[in-house]
Amino acid sequence: MSRQLHTFPGGLKLATFKHLSDSEMAQQQALPERLILPLQQHIGIPAEPVVRIGDQVLKGQVIARANGYVSLPVHASTSGRIIDIGDYPVPHPSGLNAPCIVIEADGLDQWGEITPTHEYASVDPQELQTVICECGISGLGGAGFPAHVKIREGVDNAVDTLIINGVECEPYITCDARLIQEKAQYVVAGTRMIGHAVQARHCVIAIEDDMPASYQALAELVGEDIELVTVPARYPAGGEKQLIQVITGKTVPSGGLPIHVGIVMHNVATAAAVYRAVTRGEPIISRYVTISGNVERPRNLQVLLGTPVKDCLANCGFTDDGRSKIILGGPMMGMRVRNPDIPITKTTNCILIQRHEPAPPALPCIRCGRCAEVCPVRLQPQQLYWHAESGNFRAAQSYHLFDCIECGLCAYVCPSHIPLVQYFRYAKSKVAETERRERGAEYSLTRFLEKNARAERLRADRARPLPPDTSQALAEKRSYIEAAVARSKQKKELLQKDQADDD
Ligand code: SF4
Ligand code: SF4
Repeated sequence: MSRQLHTFPGGLKLATFKHLSDSEMAQQQALPERLILPLQQHIGIPAEPVVRIGDQVLKGQVIARANGYVSLPVHASTSGRIIDIGDYPVPHPSGLNAPCIVIEADGLDQWGEITPTHEYASVDPQELQTVICECGISGLGGAGFPAHVKIREGVDNAVDTLIINGVECEPYITCDARLIQEKAQYVVAGTRMIGHAVQARHCVIAIEDDMPASYQALAELVGEDIELVTVPARYPAGGEKQLIQVITGKTVPSGGLPIHVGIVMHNVATAAAVYRAVTRGEPIISRYVTISGNVERPRNLQVLLGTPVKDCLANCGFTDDGRSKIILGGPMMGMRVRNPDIPITKTTNCILIQRHEPAPPALPCIRCGRCAEVCPVRLQPQQLYWHAESGNFRAAQSYHLFDCIECGLCAYVCPSHIPLVQYFRYAKSKVAETERRERGAEYSLTRFLEKNARAERLRADRARPLPPDTSQALAEKRSYIEAAVARSKQKKELLQKDQADDD
């Protein structure tokens, strides 16, 4: 019996441009001369280097260890020599540098020792979680949340449904579709492994209804234990909360997590990475990346992590004429980067080249309501904009600013060309900054009050009269003092007597 699907509010059917890159097999990107591996390719605490400059490393070797529970190790993507540990440009909207380990490839691409886990189904779920963590797997759909943490949430809670998300709803991006078509057996086996790790009652793999080749590849492999579901292609159907709503009809509460409604969700590429980690002991050192848009040969590449973006672009025939912009991710949620030397990381799913057109001037809001119609989380973007624009960030927060998933639809339809998402990102950063400051001020105030209370206690202690002490010790002390005074008096009298005799 096929599952009854539900719907989510808003959303829009967008032109997909998937045909540009989806038609041919993913090509292996050449090994670069050097690989730049950021210590933070995931949400959480950056990894801590365990190698030194000059060390020789093998492919798959841990070069930086996880630095806490919400952290992941970094592995060498190839064999070679560590030539630097320092700050390099990384994929971040700030454009700032961040700590990285640089490997000079020796060209041998020689694997170090890796340990497979046999018979995963008989392995304790917590042990699988450890394997997934040690292999450095984060969400490969773009968010970068450490996979073992999500799995841990599942281990600690009753999981009704595990959803493996292959709904690649953003235009141009086809890396998940290509992965499914080329490695469907990894995706299906990885789904079973995660299902076992979280002890899910149901496992679902979800794709869009305009992915027939992916459907065919998966349909041949799923058994009765995995449900293959196609959802209507409508942006942003692949958003975590939207997909949960479509598949289960459940709504993840504001500020809540999928596990709060009994759901764990992972991306198809994460499932494939889990399969490789468990059956072969392979850490995550490469990924599929879509190169599309204004390039000569749009396609998907299998890229070693740490490979410079510019190498991938050159492979696809891109020459910079100064009139293009590089976007990491898709056109709706991606981020513009200016430095093509930045490396491919675990979260890089697409490099999109677009013509750089000057943005049309923003006009006043005409209260047409189009933005609210398309918002998939039922927000009032015009109200959010009103408060964000006037600097009233707390008021924006009361309009559920933090439920905004930054899908970009409101700005996409706005006839006044107001860059709404930029306002929302700015407002979020200001609220976060204020909360940080307030937490800091609260901490200082607490310390100040504690110090004052200590000083006050000390003053009160000193001012308090000593209680009459009838103890044996005090009596002895008194008699000791009285005896000493008597001796001194006696000595003084003898001295005076001697002096008188001398006179
Ligand atoms: S779509 Fe633009 S103009 Fe229309 S209400 Fe929203 S912000 Fe205002
Ligand atoms: S960017 Fe935020 S406010 Fe705008 S449509 Fe998407 S979720 Fe709604």
